[in-house]
Amino acid sequence: MYCVIIILVFLLLLAFFVWASADVGSQVWLKTFCKVDTERKMIALTFDDGPDVMTEKVLDVLERHNAKATFFLIGSKISGREHVVQRMIEGGHAVGNHSWSHSGAFPFYNATKMSDELVRTSDAIERVTGLKPLLFRPPFGVTDPTIGKVVKRLGLKAVGWNIRSLDTIAATPRRNVADKVIGKLTPGGIILLHDRCDEADKLLEMLLNHLDSEGYACVTVDEMLQIDAYE
Ligand SMILES: [Zn+2]
Repeated sequence: MYCVIIILVFLLLLAFFVWASADVGSQVWLKTFCKVDTERKMIALTFDDGPDVMTEKVLDVLERHNAKATFFLIGSKISGREHVVQRMIEGGHAVGNHSWSHSGAFPFYNATKMSDELVRTSDAIERVTGLKPLLFRPPFGVTDPTIGKVVKRLGLKAVGWNIRSLDTIAATPRRNVADKVIGKLTPGGIILLHDRCDEADKLLEMLLNHLDSEGYACVTVDEMLQIDAYE
């Protein structure tokens, strides 16, 4: 009997740990901003994993619609695309830190290695833009006690989402991805998108056509959450 109880407790703890780490909004290991409660029709579009080949096309679409977005940058991808990052700032968009390598092993790094990744990326962004970012999005949306400790120590603000587009599943037609996002829209929502995906610009165009027709304002994460984006 004791054995069964111990196994059950272990399984429950394991399930809790998996949920707390995998759900970016769990708030267990660190506070993450995932949405804001408001009646004002505003949305924060966020793009992860750039700068990449599609980023400039995404910026073109945003500009045409007079929409602002937040880009969570991978530090190692900035070299060679400095002008793209500068264009983000010039266009009134916000940039944040999304780790240096975006390695699958990132959540398992020790605090020193993790901290190095974040500091290196913030330094790269500051070198290019003159701004030291405070916004951070955990790679894969995974959080754990080490990430919590490092983010707190560096004074970063973790940003999650409440509307996941699943745009990285390339096989899904972009129209279906857009419709799914549209079905989940609520004022004060934060949408997760990726500017590294093929047809990221086409998906964005579909979303913005809808957001415009519904009277939504697309604002940066810091503006919506009323937090500082830079030091
Ligand atoms: Zn990512």
